[in-house]
Amino acid sequence: MNLAALTAPPILAGLGRFEASSTWATVARRGILPSMRAMALREPGPIEEKPLALVERPEPEPGAGEILVQVEVCGVCRTDLHVVEGDLPLRRPGVVPGHEVVGRVVGRGPGATRFAEGARVGIAWLRHSCGGCRFCERGAENLCLQPRFTGWDADGGYAERAVVPEAFAYALPEALPAAQLAPLLCAGIIGYRAYRRSGVRPGGRLGLFGFGGSAHVTIQVARHEGCEVYVFSRGGEHRALAEELGAAWVGDSRDRPPHPLDGAILFAPAGELVPPALEALDRGATLAIAGIHLSPVPCLDYEKHLFQERTLQSVTANTREDGRALLELAARIPIRTHTHSYPLEHANEALLDLKQDRIRGAAVLDLG
Ligand SMILES: [Zn+2]
Ligand SMILES: [Zn+2]
Repeated sequence: MNLAALTAPPILAGLGRFEASSTWATVARRGILPSMRAMALREPGPIEEKPLALVERPEPEPGAGEILVQVEVCGVCRTDLHVVEGDLPLRRPGVVPGHEVVGRVVGRGPGATRFAEGARVGIAWLRHSCGGCRFCERGAENLCLQPRFTGWDADGGYAERAVVPEAFAYALPEALPAAQLAPLLCAGIIGYRAYRRSGVRPGGRLGLFGFGGSAHVTIQVARHEGCEVYVFSRGGEHRALAEELGAAWVGDSRDRPPHPLDGAILFAPAGELVPPALEALDRGATLAIAGIHLSPVPCLDYEKHLFQERTLQSVTANTREDGRALLELAARIPIRTHTHSYPLEHANEALLDLKQDRIRGAAVLDLG
C-alpha cells in the first residue's frame, strides 16, 4: 500500500464536514493512516549539527475531544531551539517541535464539536491543564501542576498535520494571512503576558531587552497604549525594525537609557542582562523575564539592583485568556508581524538563523 497516496488533502478536499470525518474514521479503523512529512528530533544537539530530520510518518489520530489540523504555517520560536538543543530536557523521543501553528480543521475525534471542518484554528504552547489543581482553580492555568505543551510533550507543527485538544485551540480570523498570525500564537502571547506583568501603565516608559519575534509584537501593543518604548539590542537589523515600529530610543544592551524605566521585559535568554536591566528601572518598577530558559543570572547587589522596591518577575507560559486577549487586540490594532518564510525541510536553517540573530521579526515555516 502506498501510504503517500492517502495523504489527507486530496481525500478530504471537497467533502462535507461529516463525510470528511467519517472518511478519516474509516481509514483509521482499517489501520491505514495517511502519511505526512514532518521534521522530527533525532536527538538533542547543537543546531549547527542539524538535529531535526525530515521523516515520513503516519498522520496523528485525533482522540476524544481533539481536532486534526492541516498546517498552513508554523512559526519558529526560541523555545523550539531550547527543545532541539536540549536546554529543555527531552520529554518525547522523536518529538516534532512547533507551537505557533496556523491551519485548518480536517478531522475531529469523538465528541469534538467546537470547530467545523475547514475552520481556521491556531495551536499554541499550552495544550493541556488539569483543571483541578489549586492553580487551575484560581484561574492560573499557566502554573498548572500537570500541564502539557505542544512540541515538547506532544508533537507540534513542524509537520503537515497536527492534533490538539479542541479546548486548547484558538479560533483565528480569516482576514489576516497565516504567516502574519503564526508569530502571535507564542511570541505574541508571551510578549503580551510579560508586558502586563511588567506593570507598565498606558503612557509609561517601557524597556525591551532583545528585539526578536516577541518584542516586535510587544512594541506594537505598548505603542497602541501610548507607551514610550526603549529598545536595547545589539543587532543592526533589529534596531532598524525597532525604530520603524516607533521606538523612542534604541541602544546597546548595556547602555543606560536617558530616563529611568517604569517597567522592562527581558526577551534575550541572557541572564547577564538582568543586572543592567534592573539598574535601568525606576523605583518601584518591575523587570519581567519572558523566556522559558535563561543563562545563569550573575550575583545581584541588593542596594544597586533590588532596593527601592524593584521587582524581578518571571513569566511562565500563559493562560488561554491571555491568548484570546492578545488575538483580539491584534485584530483591533492591527498588529503587523514581520516574518521570514522557510520551507518545512529548512527548519534547521531557520533555527540556526534564529540562534545567530539573523531574523528580522519572526521566522515561519510555510507549508502552504
Ligand atoms: Zn492544574
Ligand atoms: Zn514559543
